[in-house]
Amino acid sequence: MGHPASLSLRYLAELKSATVMTYLEMSRDIDHGGGTWAFTNCVWAPTKKRDGANWPFWEKVQEIQQHDIIIHLRGTPPNAYFVGYSVASGDGFQTTRRPPKAGEWDYADAFYRADLTGFTSFHQPINLTDVFTSRRAELESYFELNNLKGSEKLNVFFVRQSGRLQCLNGAYLSDIDEALLKALFGDGHQIVQPASNKVVISVETGSQIALMRVRIGQARFADAIKGLYGDRCCFPECTVSDARFLVGAHIARWSDNPKLRGELGNGLCLCLIHDRAFEIGLFTLDQHFRVFVNPNFERSSSSVVQDLLIHHGEQIRLASVLPLEDALIEHWIRTGIEP
Ligand SMILES: [Zn+2]
Repeated sequence: MGHPASLSLRYLAELKSATVMTYLEMSRDIDHGGGTWAFTNCVWAPTKKRDGANWPFWEKVQEIQQHDIIIHLRGTPPNAYFVGYSVASGDGFQTTRRPPKAGEWDYADAFYRADLTGFTSFHQPINLTDVFTSRRAELESYFELNNLKGSEKLNVFFVRQSGRLQCLNGAYLSDIDEALLKALFGDGHQIVQPASNKVVISVETGSQIALMRVRIGQARFADAIKGLYGDRCCFPECTVSDARFLVGAHIARWSDNPKLRGELGNGLCLCLIHDRAFEIGLFTLDQHFRVFVNPNFERSSSSVVQDLLIHHGEQIRLASVLPLEDALIEHWIRTGIEP
């Protein structure tokens, strides 16, 4: 079962939009811009350096997509702290409007900007110098692995110089992937600085970010699935197209099959009735995407089952990305149906 080649570009674009990216904003000045440009309202940077050159850590502001997560690091070491995170309320863009307090970037005549919402502070601010000390081994090995990636290398905010970890000058907006999050904040354990016995990172910080990523990831997945199916239930002849009654449903549950997370082929756009019927196993889809009603319920007097039976053997309305066979098999196993 493959996808026609002509659709693969669109598939990639949609898949990208279903992935939540995480960025780190590193700002020495606490206020950063003033007015509606100030901290927690947006991230912004000039489009060019004073000498006219481009700078990847500024251009990255443009790459932000709605619902991406931005973690904030503020101040100058040893007084730099990870203070919390925000969510992008829209995509990054370029503008000739200016921050009221542009500071040392006042020379610029254009800026990149991405608006933020929902600033959430960490349970306690996390001191960067403490993290560099207590997570040194993890961060050094992350740094080395990243350097081996060549052109795939991420733009990260720190370097190893003369045997020490330190912030990369001017790395205003940098990439944070799953592995770097883990290297920085651990995977849910309490991290104690050996020298002072001080708690550096509480259990909550790592899981706070992880939960946020899952929540946003699921919301974005649901939106992408609904878009893929043209905001209409894909069950044969079902006409529900009111967004309030539609679900971007998973075929295989995320918890059952992490590999299929974010895969659009693991989703179906269904109305509330058909989502519920699919979820509790009243029906599944066979390998040709035809409705297959669970034989255990055939004699049910439920009008929902009777309505499903009318369409037994009919193919659902397919989208440009076909349901994945792996996901369907997972659904057959979970619901005990063998179409
Ligand atoms: Zn429906």
